[in-house]
Amino acid sequence: MGQLYLNKVTKSFGDLDVIKGVTLDIQDGEFVVFVGPSGCGKSTLLRIIAGLDDATAGDIVIDGLKVNHLAPVHRGIAMVFQSYALYPHMSVFENIAFPLRVEKMPEAQIKEKVESVAQVLQLDQRLQQKPGMLSGGQRQRVAIGRAIVREPKIFLFDEPLSNLDAALRADMRIELTKLHHDLAATMIYVTHDQVEAMTMADRIVVLNGGYIAQTGKPLELYHKPQNMFVAGFIGNPK
Ligand code: ADP
Ligand code: MG
Repeated sequence: MGQLYLNKVTKSFGDLDVIKGVTLDIQDGEFVVFVGPSGCGKSTLLRIIAGLDDATAGDIVIDGLKVNHLAPVHRGIAMVFQSYALYPHMSVFENIAFPLRVEKMPEAQIKEKVESVAQVLQLDQRLQQKPGMLSGGQRQRVAIGRAIVREPKIFLFDEPLSNLDAALRADMRIELTKLHHDLAATMIYVTHDQVEAMTMADRIVVLNGGYIAQTGKPLELYHKPQNMFVAGFIGNPK
């Protein structure tokens, strides 16, 4: 299961209201893309879902359970950031194994899980290499591997491809879509790239200034934007 419900979530930093009442229901297995201009609150909303930040008001509900005060590790969520911090002195194997070592999983089980994740991400030939030997796309896959290995119910991606060049981004879009299919997990993917949103999403959530401007399937938004902002951002220009 990986169902997520946000109920009237708000967030203020001092006088600055950043999230202004977001209500959203995300189904188990959905691939939802958050788009919106820089500063509209995308990262803040992800951090609140992950538990890295507290909401000022409102509820975060996962599989029917209110998790507002649950620590990040207990939410069954993994988050992949734009700047994926790999440990440069550790092999690919050890980078992916790291969260399992923290959990003190037995060695044989760690080996089995890491090898299976490496196969899914086509890193099986790279397990003994250090991150410095890898391409940008391979390094990003290691970061994703480290997230997958704990078998989370919900994945949060915060602009994970924005440091990659255009060709690699296109490859990774396809790989992430395939991964979503293979894992059948719920994924929330943040981007300011309309192409990523249009091609990857089951459903797009357009954010503007801390509000949801519109939510719908990519083609619905494209053909029937509800307001000028959505039209300008993602809609059909004609
Ligand atoms: P996005 O990811 O959509 O670019 P963010 O969620 O990072 O936007 O930021 C939304 C707004 O909240 C911005 O105005 C940003 O400056 C502000 N903000 C984010 N984090 C903090 C913080 N820890 N303290 C104060 N303001 C913050
Ligand atoms: Mg951001």
